[in-house]
Amino acid sequence: MSKLISLKDLEFLLYRVFNAEQLTGLPHFADHDRTTFDGILTTAERIAEVYFAPHNSKADEHEPQFDGKTVTTIPEVKEAWQHFAKAGLLNARHAYEDGGMQLPSLIHMAANAFFMSANPSTAGYPFLTSAAANVIHAFGSDEQKATFLPPMFDGRFAGTMALTEPDVGSSLGDLTTKAMPAADGTYRIKGQKMYISGGDQDITENIVHLVLARIEGAENGVKGISLFIVPKFITTPDGTLAERNDVQLAGLLHKMGYRGTTSTVLSFGEQDNCVGYLIGDAGRGLMYMFKMMNEARIGVGLGAAMIGYRGYLESLDYARNRPQGRAPAEKDPHSKPLNIVEHADVKRMLLAQKSYVEGSLALCLLAARLVDEQEAGTDAQQREDSGMLLDLITPVVKSFPSFYGPRANDLAIQVLGGAGYTREYPVEQCYRDNRLNPIHEGTHGIQSLDLLGRKLWQHNGKGLKLLMARIHATLASASQKPELAALVGEYQAQLKTVQETTLLLGGALQKGQVTEALANSALYLDMMGKTIIGWLWLEMADKALDAFANSPVQEEQQFLAGKCQAAQYFIRWELPEVQHQARLLQSFDRTCLDMQADWF
Ligand SMILES: Cc1cc2nc3c(=O)[nH]c(=O)nc-3n(C[C@H](O)[C@H](O)[C@H](O)COP(=O)(O)OP(=O)(O)OC[C@H]3O[C@@H](n4cnc5c(N)ncnc54)[C@H](O)[C@@H]3O)c2cc1C
Repeated sequence: MSKLISLKDLEFLLYRVFNAEQLTGLPHFADHDRTTFDGILTTAERIAEVYFAPHNSKADEHEPQFDGKTVTTIPEVKEAWQHFAKAGLLNARHAYEDGGMQLPSLIHMAANAFFMSANPSTAGYPFLTSAAANVIHAFGSDEQKATFLPPMFDGRFAGTMALTEPDVGSSLGDLTTKAMPAADGTYRIKGQKMYISGGDQDITENIVHLVLARIEGAENGVKGISLFIVPKFITTPDGTLAERNDVQLAGLLHKMGYRGTTSTVLSFGEQDNCVGYLIGDAGRGLMYMFKMMNEARIGVGLGAAMIGYRGYLESLDYARNRPQGRAPAEKDPHSKPLNIVEHADVKRMLLAQKSYVEGSLALCLLAARLVDEQEAGTDAQQREDSGMLLDLITPVVKSFPSFYGPRANDLAIQVLGGAGYTREYPVEQCYRDNRLNPIHEGTHGIQSLDLLGRKLWQHNGKGLKLLMARIHATLASASQKPELAALVGEYQAQLKTVQETTLLLGGALQKGQVTEALANSALYLDMMGKTIIGWLWLEMADKALDAFANSPVQEEQQFLAGKCQAAQYFIRWELPEVQHQARLLQSFDRTCLDMQADWF
């Protein structure tokens, strides 16, 4: 069994739950079939296992170093990067004419899952680069595309996203980095950016920073923000490097996890000569960046899911092989100890992990499937609907795995007992790595405000209606199966509460009670996350039962039975928490709101 992901699970999700083969019916993906999909996944698995996984812990122990002039990373990072690029994975989703493979997002996401599980910090470099290249591809001029995309796709250049500043994090509308127009139509950038991942490294020849800045004289707030390409080395249109641009590494940050990815403080324009190229129209920078951020948010969800997944598989393997203790009713001290996987309380911890991480992976694949429907669907209405649903669930795709992935890792440590707390086992690193995910790409709190304050009500609540329609389709199918009747009933009861709560909060927002309605938004984000994951578990159980009758192999049947048991666990043990959350939300509980800063 792969230590990175359960291949059975991946196959089940791709081909039974999300019907990947159906995508080959769309003209854009017509050249693909199951064989090409499986070929990509096998390649990804091999590169992840051979070039990414082996140095995961070494990169953690040997953080990148900065001697005041250059940054040094361990050599394995560059080697992994080169193999990733050579396999065509940096632009796998792009069109053939751009050198891509026209791969569905669904398969691309599944391929990326191997890398996130194997070594999330080394995977950070290619994933950021792909996302930056996608922004240039979507909004850059022809010249910008011709100059920067080929070397970003073939691995000569890497990309970053430079939003955050020392004094500006969540509230991007306040950012202060400036852009001064120059006579030649370019801009001179001045300011400091902080926490920029991959902001400097020794892996690629050049680094393409996408920098948010305010053109001199532009209005305050988000409407005054523009987006610039700022290369580390000035690049001629044929992709060759000219002089060094005025971007300096002020220092590296030292982190709890994700240590293999450089985290940088960058100074732009210390010599007043930092050249930047405006992308698209002035004042639309944040909108363009949101393209990258939405993609990155789904990517963060996947990373969190897969670090959680890795910990789950490690703890499962340990539990199957660690003899300790006897059954509560066993009184004979000479009897053979049980492997801890037999203890009900250990099963609880494994089931919780399984339900969080497999549910999270399903959620990320759902998002990827929606991307495919939105971008390549042949029906205009369906494309629009898929886009709206994706938009609605993006905060949940980012946040549920980010919150429950670290919880899964916490439980993995607990399953290993003392061993879990030592650095001899990988679960403690998983926990440290995963703790980043609720923080970057919009914190948990910011995602909750985005969901409850904005996303739910866009397009007259159409996204929510589309979500409910999908949930009801699953309920209709699952309720036909006697084995699922009880679970369907339990789910419906919780769903009713969630719908009532949503209506009430929506009404309050409409009446202008913004402060009260949004005060407990984190509870709502969790409630919606549980509702969506509970739905996906029902969907998985439904599909597992469909498959059961045609699966004579015992191992396959055990896998499917495990899916049904995990669905039962999540819906019976985790989902009912929405009742308590609903009580607080529906009563507009003011405990947190009324607490005074001086009372702490
Ligand atoms: C390892 C790492 C890698 C990163 N990589 C990048 C990168 O590549 N590029 C980049 O641009 N940035 C990057 N970041 C920055 C990251 O996106 C920010 O740290 C994040 O957006 C939060 O900003 P902040 O740290 O300034 O926290 P703050 O914005 O100060 O937030 C602190 C706390 O206050 C809460 N809060 C803030 N505002 C509100 C509000 N209005 N309502 C309710 N609660 C609020 C937050 O939820 C949080 O809990 C990275 C950060 C880290 C740690």
